[in-house]
Amino acid sequence: MHYTGIAAMAVSGLIAWDLSYVIASLVLVAVFGALAMSRIAQPVTRFCKYGASISMIICVAALHYTAMTGMTVEPRIVDTVDPNLISGQSLGVTIFVVMLLLLLVASLTYSIDLKNAEHSSRHVKHLSLQDPLTCVPNRRGAECILDELLDMHVDDTSRIAVLAIDLDRFRDVNNAYGQGVGDQLLKVLAQRLVSSCGEGEHVGRVGGDHFIAIKQDVYSRHAASSFAARIAAVLDAPAVIDDVALQIAASIGSATFPDDGTTSDKLMEHAALAAARAKSEGGGRIVAYEESVDQKARKRSLLARDLAFAQDKGELEVYYQLQNDTESREVIGVEALLRWHHPVNGMVSPGVFIPIAEENGMITKLGNWVLETACAEAVGWAKPINVAVNVAAAQLEEPGFVERVRDVLAKTGLPPSRLELEITESGIIADMGAAVQVIRRLKLLGVKIAMDDYGTGYSSLSTLQSFPFDKIKIDREFVSAVDQSRQSAAIVQATIIMAESLDIPVLAEGVETEARLTVLRSLGCNLIQGFLFGKPMPKAKLKAWLENDETTTAVAA
Ligand code: C2E
Ligand code: CA
Ligand code: CA
Repeated sequence: MHYTGIAAMAVSGLIAWDLSYVIASLVLVAVFGALAMSRIAQPVTRFCKYGASISMIICVAALHYTAMTGMTVEPRIVDTVDPNLISGQSLGVTIFVVMLLLLLVASLTYSIDLKNAEHSSRHVKHLSLQDPLTCVPNRRGAECILDELLDMHVDDTSRIAVLAIDLDRFRDVNNAYGQGVGDQLLKVLAQRLVSSCGEGEHVGRVGGDHFIAIKQDVYSRHAASSFAARIAAVLDAPAVIDDVALQIAASIGSATFPDDGTTSDKLMEHAALAAARAKSEGGGRIVAYEESVDQKARKRSLLARDLAFAQDKGELEVYYQLQNDTESREVIGVEALLRWHHPVNGMVSPGVFIPIAEENGMITKLGNWVLETACAEAVGWAKPINVAVNVAAAQLEEPGFVERVRDVLAKTGLPPSRLELEITESGIIADMGAAVQVIRRLKLLGVKIAMDDYGTGYSSLSTLQSFPFDKIKIDREFVSAVDQSRQSAAIVQATIIMAESLDIPVLAEGVETEARLTVLRSLGCNLIQGFLFGKPMPKAKLKAWLENDETTTAVAA
């Protein structure tokens, strides 16, 4: 450009060039120009853009000054001044205007660049707060909205309602019609939610089939519940997708600021807990967060999560509690009782975690582990006493349970006669016929069967008659009052008389005092288990105690 410009100059003279300056100018242009371009194209630090500008300035200046140094104008002798030549003054003004224009263009470009950068960063932020499928705010987006509302909240008399919406049986839609239809349904429902929103109401999709709805300026309980009812009705209407009419209900949990939480995290978490309760109660309902109920459920689900890994993490242990003869006080066996050493909560009682394991389908795995562990440990004891293992209903129903017991006995080498399986009435009530078959086959292996917790279930005579039990264990509930309440004593006595006539020995559970032992002995109870003779103890303690040869009268504290 520079040399073309000079060539176009109308000069009354001859322009001569010094070749070395010309070459030098071109080399400088190439070097600084390339440097400027490379810093722009491939910046390595945030200072590169400044380096590029400096390089470009040096590039232009070096070209101009080097080239001009190499240029000489040899004037021709003329008489007249070319009338086409621009006067010095006009040239100055023109240059000034051109420079101004250049500056203007540069600053315009800069501001457009800045705007573009701002726009694209806003766009990226917007995308990160939006659910791509339904185009409503995602979890983070909803959190931001709620945070903003909480920040702006100044009116003490108003509340903010947060609804956690969990679609019922959405997975069935996915399974039955495919994920495409599921996605379409989510879009339709999201759109419906959006269009149903009035002023101060917001919705978002916080994941999978979970939505959230927020309403500010809630002045009454009624306003909150009618908002929830409106949302439920909006979702409830059938949606036609690919010619399939789909109707989906939702479990809705509500939490209110400030009563149920003061941060977006807490409000969303509590609403979700309430929604989970709505779902567990059968779905299709609206449930308000209740601290006591929902926190209990939360703790249970946390325990359930941890329990799933407890066995693999080596947190489980089997304890043993003595079972003694009432007359001789001699130890005739032990009951294996599961213990869970939780890394944070410490020892968790089986009364707490066994029901959780039953609800979550983990009881079979745990029960099988107890069976195997107890049998393996019992083989190594100094005295061949019996070991009683609790068997949950789900274990008894599991196909192959009898074979499992047979294999465990074979593997551990425990004689079948030393194993006793404790079964509760609830474990056999569902399918009596099948249970009788399983129990008969277990007895054919040579193991004994005890009826556990007698008195707490249906305790029907026919159960006792049709099941070939080897022992009846009267529940602690009746035993603990046997020396104080005539009714309890009567129940225990009736059970003992009945068991005697069926020729089944009776064990009383939960015997804590000598007084109770005396009463039970007088009533004809054969065996007892309770703190009087010892609390459940770890295997090492039991092993040492059995080796001590004091099995007759000693009390294992
Ligand atoms: P359970 O089968 O009735 O076990 C007897 C429970 O009574 C044990 O509670 C024992 O520690 C407690 N106990 C014994 N003697 C006394 C006493 O004198 N006073 C008092 N207050 N309590 C006494 P634990 O070990 O907490 O177990 C509770 C329940 O958890 C068991 O009741 C049983 O239903 C279940 N469980 C424990 N281990 C297992 C297992 O491996 N499998 C299954 N399915 N259930 C188990
Ligand atoms: Ca038991
Ligand atoms: Ca029991």
